[in-house]
Order: sequence, then C-alpha cells, then structure tokens
Amino acid sequence: MIGGRHNGYQKTALHKTDLNPANLIGGDDMDPEFVLSSRVRTGRSIRGLALPPHCTRAERREVEKIVVEALDTLTGSLQGKYYPLNKMTPEQQDQLIEDHFLFDKPVSPLLLSSGMARDWPDARGIWHNDDKTVLVWVNEEDHTRVISMQKGGNMKEVFRRFCESLEQVEEAMKKKGKEFMWNEHLGFILTCPSNLGTGLRAGVHVKLPCLSKDPRFADALKALRLQKRGTGGVDTASEDGVFDVSNLDRLGYSEVELVQKVVDGVNLLVAMEKRLMNGDSIDDLVPKLCN
Ligand code: ADP
Ligand code: MG
Repeated sequence: MIGGRHNGYQKTALHKTDLNPANLIGGDDMDPEFVLSSRVRTGRSIRGLALPPHCTRAERREVEKIVVEALDTLTGSLQGKYYPLNKMTPEQQDQLIEDHFLFDKPVSPLLLSSGMARDWPDARGIWHNDDKTVLVWVNEEDHTRVISMQKGGNMKEVFRRFCESLEQVEEAMKKKGKEFMWNEHLGFILTCPSNLGTGLRAGVHVKLPCLSKDPRFADALKALRLQKRGTGGVDTASEDGVFDVSNLDRLGYSEVELVQKVVDGVNLLVAMEKRLMNGDSIDDLVPKLCN
C-alpha cells in the first residue's frame, strides 16, 4: 500500500533527511507579482503517545502539555505564545483561519470518521511567534504541525526559518526526555499515511488565471510532481485564479529535494503564465510526462 501511495517506494528503501537550507538552489526570488505567499509545513508525533484518531483524552492533554512547555523555552525571533482553542472567541478563531494561520474546523468526512475530532476543541490550539512567521498547531490531524510562512516569494527564507525552528523545537522536546516518531524506512510518522517520510508540504499561493484555463495545466502539474489546492486549504476551490501549489511527494525524497521541486516548478508555471498573458505560445515550456 505504501509503494502504491508513494510513487513506487521500495520495501527496502531508506528514508533520507536533508534539513540544510544551504543545499537549496535559488528560491529567494520567486516573482512576488504572482507568488503571493510561501509556506513550508510538516508534522511531528511524540513517541509513546497514540495519534489523534485513536488517543485518549488524557494522552491528548499530555501532548499539549509537553509541546507547550517545550515551545515556551524558545527565545529570540522564536519567542512566542500558545493560544488554546477553547480560550479563543469564535471571532478570534475565524480571523486566524481567514488569515491562513490556523487549521479549519474539522468538517471533512475523512477527518471526522477517522476519530481525530473527538472532544473538539479540548487540548487543541496554536502557538506562534510574535510576527506569525513560525506557527505550531497542536492536536489537529497530528500531534504537532510546524509551519513557516510569510508573504511574497522568498521560499529560501521560509525554508531556512522552517529548518531552524524544527531543530529548536526538537531540541527543546529532547530536553524534556521526548523524541519524535521516526524510523529508517518510513521517515517521520504522521497520522495520515500520505504524509509519511518528510511530512513536508512546501507551497505557494500563486496567481495563474491564464494557465489554469489551459487544458495542459493538469498534466504540467503532474509532470512537475506538484499538486494544487484552493487558497482556503485542502478541499476548497480556487478563487480568482489563485491556487495553492505544493509538492506532491512526501516519501522517497529529502526535504531539500521537495522544496527544490516547488521552487523550480513554480518558476516555470509563472513563466508560462506570463507568456499566456501576452498571448504567446508556451509549447516549448510545457513539461513532459515521463511515463
Ligand atoms: P496543510 O497541508 O497544512 O494541512 P491545508 O490545505 O489544510 O494545509 O491548509 C491549511 C491552511 O494553510 C489554510 O488556511 C490555507 O489557506 C493555508 N495555506 C496553505 N498554504 C499556504 C500558502 N502558501 N500561503 C498562505 N496560506 C497557506
Ligand atoms: Mg490539513
């Protein structure tokens, strides 16, 4: 099943991690006229505690306690504060969702039937630094989701901050005697099997009103190993030709390799969009499917 879901990942394969932002080529100058925001997220699970679809209420509260205590030790630009869902007003929550910082309420049948929404909103919340460029979701689909984001097209900066934050969060957890769920074959263990490996989704909100109307758009994304979502998140529709475009793969590639695919792929999509805006042909730019 894992091979089927993850592009033929072999039973004997070993997962590779590369969280060194210096290995990313370019990525600091995606055109901000088209790339409205850049974001990288992953999830981390705490070894020894059941995952959200199956955990007890006590385990869920323990996850929250461990994570918040660890995050409270961060300093400098990573100093921040935890906002539990059950202490927010509905208006505060809706504003954070609308601004793309907070997870949506669990409404999809897939999430609800998995059991991950039991006791909602108990022990769920969001931690973020003061300028909301590093965010950690607690007890949504995963024990934790670590997110780095900012406006514009500087994915390099976003990835650099992502790597730094992840390292510091991991270190703070280790000091509390905890470690993340991980193994050599499957990489990091997240709740959804589709997120095994890096758990990484690097994405941009990108304006592609012309290209998205071109019949070659879907195949171009496939060839570049990219996926599209609406700007409200998974299962939402695109508005005004703006899409969330991100890496399709999670397992079998390193973090740097996945972010690189997004940077290179999005730059190509933007180049195609510019041509179409001018009424020019994109024949020589359309990427070819390998199989
Ligand atoms: P995830 O893979 O993190 O669970 P979702 O599709 O559930 O992503 O979206 C979660 C939230 O993150 C949504 O509000 C979505 O609009 C926001 N988001 C995702 N990618 C970006 C991006 N590149 N820029 C701004 N917001 C984003
Ligand atoms: Mg999600």
